[in-house]
Amino acid sequence: MKIDAYETDALMDVAARPRLVFVQGEGSWLIDHRGKRYLDFVQGWAVNSLGHCPPEIAAALAAQAQRLVSPSPAFFNDAALGLAQRLARLSGLDRVFPVSSGGEANEGAVKLARKWGQLHRDGAFEVITFADGFHGRTLATMAASGKAGWEKLFEPKVPGFPKAPLNDIDAVCELIGPRTAAVMLEPIQGEAGVVPATVEFLQALRALCDEHSLLLILDEVQTGVGRTGSLFAFEQADVVPDVMALGKGLGGGVPLAALLAKEKAACFAHGEQGGTYCGNPLMAAVGSAVLDTVAQPQFLAGVRERGAHLQQHLQRLSERHQLAGERGSGLLRALDLGRPIGGALVEAARELQPEGLLLNSPRPHLLRFMPALNVPFEDVDRMAAQLDGLLAKAR
Ligand SMILES: *Cc1c(COP(=O)(O)O)cnc(C)c1O
Repeated sequence: MKIDAYETDALMDVAARPRLVFVQGEGSWLIDHRGKRYLDFVQGWAVNSLGHCPPEIAAALAAQAQRLVSPSPAFFNDAALGLAQRLARLSGLDRVFPVSSGGEANEGAVKLARKWGQLHRDGAFEVITFADGFHGRTLATMAASGKAGWEKLFEPKVPGFPKAPLNDIDAVCELIGPRTAAVMLEPIQGEAGVVPATVEFLQALRALCDEHSLLLILDEVQTGVGRTGSLFAFEQADVVPDVMALGKGLGGGVPLAALLAKEKAACFAHGEQGGTYCGNPLMAAVGSAVLDTVAQPQFLAGVRERGAHLQQHLQRLSERHQLAGERGSGLLRALDLGRPIGGALVEAARELQPEGLLLNSPRPHLLRFMPALNVPFEDVDRMAAQLDGLLAKAR
């Protein structure tokens, strides 16, 4: 396909994409090859915690690029040590394994669970996961996911991921047996449409895991690093996981993720886990820069204020246009449209002139909002005004 002067055929064709090419980003805005500006409420898929091209990340990248980029994962480097120490201190977990993507972090979590089963549960290997959950696109994390339409993909599937409905503790109890090693879930299911695990459910899972010596694995790839208004979503449930996966917002836009574990669960022996880019200083330096900003109490208070502001707008839109309400936590929110017009709204928003609006519809009846954690209040107002106009036309 030709898009003006650009030829797209050399890229593997794995997704339908609109006919535009982004060439620049600044804060809340993306700019395409024709110079059109788009107010961005997708932000790299909840990735750009500080917006597009923030000075903190540009400075961290530039400084680290001139000092040390890749000494090899066989050696310690100061940037990776700094990131690991920050993450351990901030999370209360003891050990950190930096990786490049959320899927890779979760894949490592599953490996830890299987090793845990080998060591302490007589070879148990099953990880109980949840309907509609999403954990990534490696073979194991696809099997761990409960995404509709994935059941028959790339068979045979990696075995060992029995599924329960979210928030159904009796169903989890029924799945627990001698082969169970761990329970793994998102505190808020992101791709499913911002569906929260309840506080009672998370606390009951913690108790159940303690009772049966199973690992509780939280996938905070989407909810972690300030997205929900606390540094980690688990703080809001007062439940500490044994193992946690971080990604997305941790890198603020660069490929950085992390597997974290309590000491007792960090049970890899030498040679059982690794990766060429694990602990890469260039990415680790960015992660530390992101945390130095996002972990500040006043920054997190700002996320909660922005979340409340967005929530008010969404509630008003829901009332005015007779939609089915809004939900979410902090700056991970969804508007339930009550009917399957999400895709059409996303397209109409992008086509707006002179400035487009980028929205995401993870389910046909839903819009999901994941702006930068420092999104200016007036950009939230501007988004809501544009969406108001679109909803008026959509009826
Ligand atoms: C995005 C996401 C992943 C996968 O992360 P990648 O970096 O795309 O591999 C895993 N879990 C959750 C909850 C996610 O939102």
